[in-house]
Amino acid sequence: MKILVCIKQVPDSAQIRVHPVTNTIMRQGVPTIINPYDLFSLEEALKIRDKFGGEVTVLTMGPPMASEALRKALAIGADRAILLTDRSFAGSDTLATTYALSQAIRKIEKVYGDQDIVFAGKQTIDGDTAQVGPGVAKRLNILQLTYVSKIESCDPEKREIILERRAEGGVQVLKTKLPCLITMLEGSNEVRRGTIDDSLRAARAQIVTWSAKDAEIADLTKCGLKGSPTIVKKVFAPTPRTDRAKLIEPGKTAGDTAEAMIGAIFARSASLEEDMTKLASGF
Ligand SMILES: Cc1cc2nc3c(=O)[nH]c(=O)nc-3n(C[C@H](O)[C@H](O)[C@H](O)COP(=O)(O)OP(=O)(O)OC[C@H]3O[C@@H](n4cnc5c(N)ncnc54)[C@H](O)[C@@H]3O)c2cc1C
Repeated sequence: MKILVCIKQVPDSAQIRVHPVTNTIMRQGVPTIINPYDLFSLEEALKIRDKFGGEVTVLTMGPPMASEALRKALAIGADRAILLTDRSFAGSDTLATTYALSQAIRKIEKVYGDQDIVFAGKQTIDGDTAQVGPGVAKRLNILQLTYVSKIESCDPEKREIILERRAEGGVQVLKTKLPCLITMLEGSNEVRRGTIDDSLRAARAQIVTWSAKDAEIADLTKCGLKGSPTIVKKVFAPTPRTDRAKLIEPGKTAGDTAEAMIGAIFARSASLEEDMTKLASGF
């Protein structure tokens, strides 16, 4: 099985601070990590490779420093890493990102053979749009299975995969043909640490680095800022909530406190009390 995993290097959001005066994100000194959602997809790709043989290639589009994320993926167990980096990708929105990634995947298939499964994370912790996986599937013209919670079975001979997908109000069990694109849900597996051999291999590994020309990207007007119709109108930090948690005062029960709080809510919105009373009395 040949499996490709799209990974993105993101700032560790747990360590991001918003400037108290300018309200801008302070990126300086913030460490970068592999987007955590991508690790669940990487783990699933490695499990399939371990079972059926083959190879796992990780791909990222980003600045030269994104090679660090690829090296971490190699240390976890990926076989090959490809960095797609070029000034012409700067300012890419999700439309341009999916174009560059899908063109690079076509080139990977030319060089290393057709990919049976393409994995992506469910979403990123920085951009957070969850558009890139489905967008890449659309551009590659392959089926997409998002929010996958479990891969039940995979049959490389029949070229079939059966999996569970979380849907509104339940779980769908789906069988589909390969090739397809899958995005895994968080917590769907336990991400391995990688062996010492993997770490040594990762430290010495040559990261394959492609420019737009190397990746044979056909139309540069679809890349970067030129190919990005999205306009960010405003970026702002959410206003902190003013409501504070209420303590249950000594001597009062939780019921007393709840009653007092509901009273306070109704005092702020009289129509809400009316509506609730009507609902409760069945009108
Ligand atoms: C107008 C505009 C300008 C922008 N300019 C820049 C810029 O200059 N520099 C910049 O870094 N970002 C820029 N961005 C952000 C950039 O568009 C997104 O980071 C990128 O398109 C991915 O979107 P996302 O983070 O929402 O990914 P999602 O759709 O949430 O990601 C889903 C999955 O897709 C895969 N994926 C996403 N991005 C990549 C990637 N780059 N490589 C490999 N796999 C990936 C991962 O598996 C990820 O888990 C810009 C956005 C806009 C709207």
